[in-house]
Amino acid sequence: MTTVETFPTLAEAARAMGSGAAFFGGGTVLMRDVNAGDGPQRLVRSADPALTEIRAQGETVRLGAGVTMARILAERDLAFLHPVARQIGGPQVRNMGTLGGNLFAPHPYGDFAVALIALGARAVLAGQGGARPVEELMRERARPPLVAAIEIPRPRSGREFGFLKVSRVKPKGVSVLSVAAFLPAEGGRIRGARVAWGAMGPAPMRGQGAERALEGGELDAATIARAAAQAAEGLDPPTDALASAWYRKEVAGVHLRRLLERMERG
Ligand SMILES: Cc1cc2nc3c(=O)[nH]c(=O)nc-3n(C[C@H](O)[C@H](O)[C@H](O)COP(=O)(O)OP(=O)(O)OC[C@H]3O[C@@H](n4cnc5c(N)ncnc54)[C@H](O)[C@@H]3O)c2cc1C
Repeated sequence: MTTVETFPTLAEAARAMGSGAAFFGGGTVLMRDVNAGDGPQRLVRSADPALTEIRAQGETVRLGAGVTMARILAERDLAFLHPVARQIGGPQVRNMGTLGGNLFAPHPYGDFAVALIALGARAVLAGQGGARPVEELMRERARPPLVAAIEIPRPRSGREFGFLKVSRVKPKGVSVLSVAAFLPAEGGRIRGARVAWGAMGPAPMRGQGAERALEGGELDAATIARAAAQAAEGLDPPTDALASAWYRKEVAGVHLRRLLERMERG
Protein backbone atom coordinates (compact mmCIF):
# COMPACT_ATOMS: atom_id res chain seq x y z
CA MET A 1 0.00 0.00 0.00
CA THR A 2 1.15 3.55 -0.75
CA THR A 3 0.40 6.44 1.63
CA VAL A 4 0.38 10.08 0.49
CA GLU A 5 1.62 12.83 2.83
CA THR A 6 1.22 16.52 1.94
CA PHE A 7 3.27 19.25 3.66
CA PRO A 8 2.68 23.02 3.54
CA THR A 9 6.37 23.83 3.02
CA LEU A 10 9.20 22.26 1.06
CA ALA A 11 11.43 22.33 4.15
CA GLU A 12 8.91 20.12 5.99
CA ALA A 13 8.61 17.84 2.97
CA ALA A 14 12.42 17.52 2.82
CA ARG A 15 12.52 16.52 6.49
CA ALA A 16 9.82 13.90 5.87
CA MET A 17 11.77 12.22 3.05
CA GLY A 18 13.35 8.99 4.19
CA SER A 19 13.66 5.38 3.23
CA GLY A 20 10.76 4.14 1.13
CA ALA A 21 9.61 7.70 0.28
CA ALA A 22 9.50 9.40 -3.11
CA PHE A 23 8.66 13.03 -3.80
CA PHE A 24 5.55 13.36 -5.97
CA GLY A 25 5.90 15.86 -8.84
CA GLY A 26 3.29 15.45 -11.57
CA GLY A 27 3.18 11.68 -11.11
CA THR A 28 3.52 10.82 -14.83
CA VAL A 29 6.23 8.28 -14.00
CA LEU A 30 5.43 7.49 -10.36
CA MET A 31 1.74 6.73 -10.87
CA ARG A 32 2.49 4.01 -13.40
CA ASP A 33 4.46 2.17 -10.71
CA VAL A 34 1.82 2.84 -8.04
CA ASN A 35 -0.96 1.55 -10.32
CA ALA A 36 1.11 -1.54 -11.09
CA GLY A 37 1.43 -2.22 -7.35
CA ASP A 38 5.16 -1.55 -7.61
CA GLY A 39 5.32 2.03 -6.29
CA PRO A 40 7.09 3.53 -3.27
CA GLN A 41 5.60 2.97 0.19
CA ARG A 42 5.25 6.71 0.82
CA LEU A 43 4.57 9.58 -1.57
CA VAL A 44 5.58 12.97 -0.20
CA ARG A 45 3.96 16.09 -1.69
CA SER A 46 4.13 19.80 -0.91
CA ALA A 47 1.69 22.66 -1.44
CA ASP A 48 4.53 25.22 -1.12
CA PRO A 49 3.88 28.02 -3.69
CA ALA A 50 7.67 28.23 -4.27
CA LEU A 51 7.40 24.93 -6.17
CA THR A 52 5.44 26.53 -9.00
CA GLU A 53 7.04 29.98 -8.99
CA ILE A 54 8.49 31.34 -12.24
CA ARG A 55 10.97 34.23 -12.33
CA ALA A 56 11.54 34.55 -16.03
CA GLN A 57 13.25 37.92 -16.36
CA GLY A 58 16.98 38.63 -16.28
CA GLU A 59 20.10 36.73 -17.25
CA THR A 60 19.29 33.79 -14.97
CA VAL A 61 15.73 32.47 -14.85
CA ARG A 62 14.49 30.62 -11.78
CA LEU A 63 11.80 27.98 -12.10
CA GLY A 64 10.21 26.07 -9.23
CA ALA A 65 10.79 22.32 -9.56
CA GLY A 66 7.01 21.82 -9.78
CA VAL A 67 6.67 23.97 -12.92
CA THR A 68 5.18 21.85 -15.71
CA MET A 69 6.23 21.65 -19.34
CA ALA A 70 2.87 23.22 -20.32
CA ARG A 71 3.55 26.26 -18.11
CA ILE A 72 6.99 26.74 -19.65
CA LEU A 73 5.36 26.69 -23.08
CA ALA A 74 2.85 29.34 -21.98
CA GLU A 75 5.56 31.75 -20.82
CA ARG A 76 6.82 34.06 -23.56
CA ASP A 77 9.95 35.00 -21.60
CA LEU A 78 10.99 31.33 -21.60
CA ALA A 79 11.00 31.04 -25.41
CA PHE A 80 14.53 29.59 -25.38
CA LEU A 81 13.15 26.56 -23.49
CA HIS A 82 10.10 26.02 -25.71
CA PRO A 83 11.81 23.74 -28.26
CA VAL A 84 12.78 21.48 -25.33
CA ALA A 85 9.46 21.47 -23.42
CA ARG A 86 7.54 20.85 -26.68
CA GLN A 87 9.42 17.57 -27.15
CA ILE A 88 8.41 16.01 -23.81
CA GLY A 89 5.65 13.43 -24.40
CA GLY A 90 2.20 14.52 -25.60
CA PRO A 91 -0.17 17.20 -24.22
CA GLN A 92 -1.27 15.12 -21.20
CA VAL A 93 2.30 14.43 -20.11
CA ARG A 94 3.27 18.07 -20.64
CA ASN A 95 0.28 19.23 -18.56
CA MET A 96 1.37 17.18 -15.54
CA GLY A 97 5.09 16.46 -15.98
CA THR A 98 7.38 18.77 -13.99
CA LEU A 99 10.94 19.96 -14.24
CA GLY A 100 11.90 18.21 -10.99
CA GLY A 101 10.40 14.93 -12.18
CA ASN A 102 12.26 15.14 -15.48
CA LEU A 103 15.59 15.27 -13.62
CA PHE A 104 14.94 11.87 -12.06
CA ALA A 105 12.75 10.12 -14.65
CA PRO A 106 14.54 6.91 -15.70
CA HIS A 107 16.15 6.13 -19.09
CA PRO A 108 15.24 6.94 -21.86
CA TYR A 109 13.49 9.94 -20.27
CA GLY A 110 15.20 13.09 -19.03
CA ASP A 111 15.25 15.21 -22.21
CA PHE A 112 14.76 18.44 -20.28
CA ALA A 113 17.62 17.51 -17.95
CA VAL A 114 19.85 17.23 -21.04
CA ALA A 115 19.12 20.85 -21.94
CA LEU A 116 19.65 21.95 -18.33
CA ILE A 117 23.06 20.27 -18.15
CA ALA A 118 24.18 21.92 -21.40
CA LEU A 119 23.03 25.31 -20.12
CA GLY A 120 24.96 24.86 -16.86
CA ALA A 121 21.76 25.04 -14.77
CA ARG A 122 21.90 24.70 -10.99
CA ALA A 123 19.44 22.98 -8.66
CA VAL A 124 18.34 24.64 -5.41
CA LEU A 125 17.79 21.87 -2.85
CA ALA A 126 14.89 22.11 -0.38
CA GLY A 127 15.93 22.87 3.17
CA GLN A 128 19.56 23.58 2.16
CA GLY A 129 21.38 26.76 1.21
CA GLY A 130 23.04 27.32 -2.18
CA ALA A 131 22.61 25.51 -5.44
CA ARG A 132 24.35 22.54 -7.08
CA PRO A 133 25.06 21.87 -10.76
CA VAL A 134 22.29 19.71 -12.27
CA GLU A 135 24.91 17.43 -13.83
CA GLU A 136 26.14 16.55 -10.31
CA LEU A 137 22.63 15.46 -9.26
CA MET A 138 22.49 13.02 -12.17
CA ARG A 139 24.97 10.85 -10.29
CA GLU A 140 22.57 10.66 -7.30
CA ARG A 141 19.51 9.45 -9.19
CA ALA A 142 19.11 6.34 -7.04
CA ARG A 143 18.35 8.53 -3.98
CA PRO A 144 17.46 11.96 -5.35
CA PRO A 145 17.63 14.97 -3.02
CA LEU A 146 14.44 17.09 -2.96
CA VAL A 147 14.85 19.85 -5.56
CA ALA A 148 13.03 23.12 -4.85
CA ALA A 149 13.96 25.14 -7.95
CA ILE A 150 16.28 25.32 -10.94
CA GLU A 151 18.37 28.35 -11.89
CA ILE A 152 19.02 28.50 -15.62
CA PRO A 153 21.41 30.89 -17.40
CA ARG A 154 19.62 32.50 -20.34
CA PRO A 155 21.44 32.03 -23.68
CA ARG A 156 21.89 35.18 -25.76
CA SER A 157 20.77 33.68 -29.09
CA GLY A 158 19.76 30.59 -31.04
CA ARG A 159 23.37 30.38 -32.17
CA GLU A 160 24.44 29.97 -28.56
CA PHE A 161 22.00 27.22 -27.49
CA GLY A 162 20.33 24.35 -29.33
CA PHE A 163 18.50 21.09 -28.56
CA LEU A 164 17.72 18.07 -30.71
CA LYS A 165 15.69 14.97 -29.87
CA VAL A 166 15.71 11.86 -32.05
CA SER A 167 12.74 9.50 -31.77
CA ARG A 168 11.27 6.81 -33.97
CA VAL A 169 7.61 7.85 -33.48
CA LYS A 170 6.74 11.50 -34.13
CA PRO A 171 5.63 13.68 -32.45
CA LYS A 172 5.35 11.83 -29.13
CA GLY A 173 7.98 9.09 -29.19
CA VAL A 174 10.62 8.74 -26.50
CA SER A 175 14.27 9.37 -27.24
CA VAL A 176 16.62 7.18 -29.21
CA LEU A 177 18.89 9.99 -28.07
CA SER A 178 18.75 13.68 -27.30
CA VAL A 179 21.56 16.22 -27.43
CA ALA A 180 21.94 19.86 -26.41
CA ALA A 181 24.77 22.33 -26.92
CA PHE A 182 25.58 25.65 -25.26
CA LEU A 183 28.32 27.47 -27.17
CA PRO A 184 29.10 30.94 -25.83
CA ALA A 185 31.61 32.77 -28.03
CA GLU A 186 34.16 35.53 -27.55
CA GLY A 187 35.55 37.26 -30.63
CA GLY A 188 33.96 34.61 -32.84
CA ARG A 189 35.63 31.71 -30.96
CA ILE A 190 33.74 29.23 -28.76
CA ARG A 191 34.69 29.64 -25.08
CA GLY A 192 33.20 27.32 -22.47
CA ALA A 193 31.53 24.78 -24.81
CA ARG A 194 29.01 22.49 -23.13
CA VAL A 195 27.42 19.48 -24.83
CA ALA A 196 25.02 17.10 -23.07
CA TRP A 197 23.49 13.80 -24.15
CA GLY A 198 20.35 11.91 -23.16
CA ALA A 199 19.78 8.13 -23.53
CA MET A 200 23.52 7.73 -24.14
CA GLY A 201 24.35 6.45 -20.66
CA PRO A 202 22.60 5.54 -17.42
CA ALA A 203 21.59 9.23 -16.99
CA PRO A 204 21.90 12.50 -18.96
CA MET A 205 25.58 13.45 -19.11
CA ARG A 206 28.21 15.81 -20.58
CA GLY A 207 29.81 14.94 -23.93
CA GLN A 208 33.40 15.78 -23.24
CA GLY A 209 34.81 14.57 -26.58
CA ALA A 210 32.59 16.96 -28.52
CA GLU A 211 33.24 19.78 -26.04
CA ARG A 212 37.02 19.47 -26.49
CA ALA A 213 36.63 19.50 -30.28
CA LEU A 214 34.48 22.66 -30.16
CA GLU A 215 36.45 24.64 -27.59
CA GLY A 216 38.40 27.56 -29.07
CA GLY A 217 37.12 26.95 -32.61
CA GLU A 218 34.76 28.98 -34.77
CA LEU A 219 31.34 27.44 -35.32
CA ASP A 220 32.10 26.48 -38.92
CA ALA A 221 32.16 23.34 -41.08
CA ALA A 222 35.65 22.26 -39.96
CA THR A 223 34.89 22.59 -36.22
CA ILE A 224 31.53 20.87 -36.65
CA ALA A 225 33.18 17.94 -38.48
CA ARG A 226 35.75 17.60 -35.66
CA ALA A 227 33.02 17.61 -33.00
CA ALA A 228 30.93 15.05 -34.93
CA ALA A 229 33.95 12.74 -35.17
CA GLN A 230 34.47 12.93 -31.37
CA ALA A 231 30.75 12.78 -30.48
CA ALA A 232 30.61 9.25 -29.04
CA GLU A 233 33.86 9.50 -27.06
CA GLY A 234 33.33 8.53 -23.42
CA LEU A 235 29.67 7.58 -23.96
CA ASP A 236 28.42 4.12 -23.01
CA PRO A 237 24.79 3.98 -24.15
CA PRO A 238 22.45 1.15 -23.19
CA THR A 239 20.75 -1.27 -25.55
CA ASP A 240 16.96 -1.20 -25.21
CA ALA A 241 13.82 -1.80 -27.28
CA LEU A 242 14.44 1.47 -29.20
CA ALA A 243 18.05 1.00 -30.28
CA SER A 244 21.23 -0.93 -29.61
CA ALA A 245 24.24 0.62 -27.92
CA TRP A 246 26.15 0.15 -31.21
CA TYR A 247 23.49 2.06 -33.19
CA ARG A 248 23.33 4.92 -30.69
CA LYS A 249 27.12 5.38 -30.87
CA GLU A 250 27.09 5.15 -34.68
CA VAL A 251 24.48 7.90 -35.13
CA ALA A 252 25.57 10.26 -32.32
CA GLY A 253 27.93 12.18 -34.63
CA VAL A 254 25.31 12.51 -37.38
CA HIS A 255 22.80 14.11 -35.01
CA LEU A 256 25.37 16.34 -33.30
CA ARG A 257 26.38 17.59 -36.75
CA ARG A 258 22.72 18.37 -37.60
CA LEU A 259 22.27 20.28 -34.35
CA LEU A 260 25.48 22.28 -34.78
CA GLU A 261 24.70 23.12 -38.41
CA ARG A 262 21.30 24.44 -37.31
CA MET A 263 22.98 26.56 -34.63
CA GLU A 264 25.52 27.83 -37.19
CA ARG A 265 22.63 29.13 -39.30
CA GLY A 266 21.38 30.97 -36.15
C1 LIG B 1 3.60 8.45 -22.28
C2 LIG B 1 4.80 9.12 -21.68
C3 LIG B 1 5.66 9.80 -22.52
C4 LIG B 1 6.80 10.45 -21.99
N1 LIG B 1 7.64 11.11 -22.85
C5 LIG B 1 8.76 11.70 -22.35
C6 LIG B 1 9.66 12.37 -23.23
O1 LIG B 1 9.46 12.45 -24.44
N2 LIG B 1 10.77 12.92 -22.69
C7 LIG B 1 11.04 12.87 -21.35
O2 LIG B 1 12.06 13.40 -20.92
N3 LIG B 1 10.19 12.26 -20.50
C8 LIG B 1 9.06 11.68 -20.96
N4 LIG B 1 8.21 11.05 -20.11
C9 LIG B 1 8.57 10.91 -18.70
C10 LIG B 1 7.92 11.97 -17.77
O3 LIG B 1 6.58 12.19 -18.10
C11 LIG B 1 8.65 13.31 -17.78
O4 LIG B 1 10.04 13.08 -17.66
C12 LIG B 1 8.17 14.24 -16.67
O5 LIG B 1 8.85 15.47 -16.75
C13 LIG B 1 8.34 13.65 -15.28
O6 LIG B 1 7.83 14.58 -14.34
P1 LIG B 1 6.76 14.22 -13.20
O7 LIG B 1 6.61 15.45 -12.38
O8 LIG B 1 5.53 13.64 -13.76
O9 LIG B 1 7.57 13.09 -12.40
P2 LIG B 1 7.04 12.13 -11.24
O10 LIG B 1 6.42 10.92 -11.84
O11 LIG B 1 6.26 12.89 -10.23
O12 LIG B 1 8.46 11.74 -10.58
C14 LIG B 1 9.49 11.11 -11.34
C15 LIG B 1 10.71 10.92 -10.40
O13 LIG B 1 11.25 12.19 -10.04
C16 LIG B 1 11.21 12.36 -8.60
N5 LIG B 1 10.88 13.78 -8.35
C17 LIG B 1 9.82 14.49 -8.81
N6 LIG B 1 9.92 15.79 -8.45
C18 LIG B 1 11.07 15.89 -7.72
C19 LIG B 1 11.71 16.97 -7.03
N7 LIG B 1 11.22 18.22 -7.03
N8 LIG B 1 12.86 16.71 -6.39
C20 LIG B 1 13.39 15.45 -6.37
N9 LIG B 1 12.82 14.40 -6.99
C21 LIG B 1 11.67 14.61 -7.66
C22 LIG B 1 10.14 11.40 -8.12
O14 LIG B 1 10.31 11.07 -6.77
C23 LIG B 1 10.36 10.23 -9.07
O15 LIG B 1 11.46 9.48 -8.67
C24 LIG B 1 7.06 10.39 -20.60
C25 LIG B 1 6.17 9.72 -19.76
C26 LIG B 1 5.05 9.09 -20.28
C27 LIG B 1 4.12 8.36 -19.35
